[in-house]
Amino acid sequence: MTLPIFLVGARGCGKTTVGQALALAQGCQFIDTDFWLQETAQQTIADIVARDGWEAFRARETEALKAVTAPARVIATGGGIILSECNRHFMREKGIVVYLCAPVAVLADRLEAFPEEGQRPTLTGKPISEEVSEVLALRDALYREAAHHVVNAAQSPDQVVSDIEAALQLARA
Ligand code: ADP
Ligand code: MG
Repeated sequence: MTLPIFLVGARGCGKTTVGQALALAQGCQFIDTDFWLQETAQQTIADIVARDGWEAFRARETEALKAVTAPARVIATGGGIILSECNRHFMREKGIVVYLCAPVAVLADRLEAFPEEGQRPTLTGKPISEEVSEVLALRDALYREAAHHVVNAAQSPDQVVSDIEAALQLARA
């Protein structure tokens, strides 16, 4: 595998979890733009947003995306990375984009079980299932527009990895 693989999708769809497993299976490097950004800034996403606002966070996210993009990497992106047309274009051009697609109920269950507020500050101030539903309604078309492949992310992580490998015709390591 040489082209970077970008995993996109809503919060809780499993970008980090599946990305790590896929990278392990393929023997390549795993990078998470959210983690990279927090480590580089030495701040949580919630702190960056509280101090500088969402617009400033989005600008840093675009920088992070460009900085981490390299061959033979699996890159888990932030849920809102596809809001920028420039980011969508960049990912499609530089690598293979996979949308981890899961229904609202599955996403909400996972986020309620593991909220990780530092990494996932509220986007609307509404309860989790309401927020997931609203945000997905706005972003689903953008995830699809950005993606070369759409996989069912409501399955087990191993199954999602297998489906990605099948879609990309990657042999299991
Ligand atoms: P994202 O990076 O897309 O926000 P995560 O990988 O952090 O999502 O997953 C959010 C939560 O859901 C984690 O607690 C993780 O263990 C769980 N999870 C992720 N993918 C799956 C899956 N395919 N099946 C069951 N639980 C999952
Ligand atoms: Mg993540």
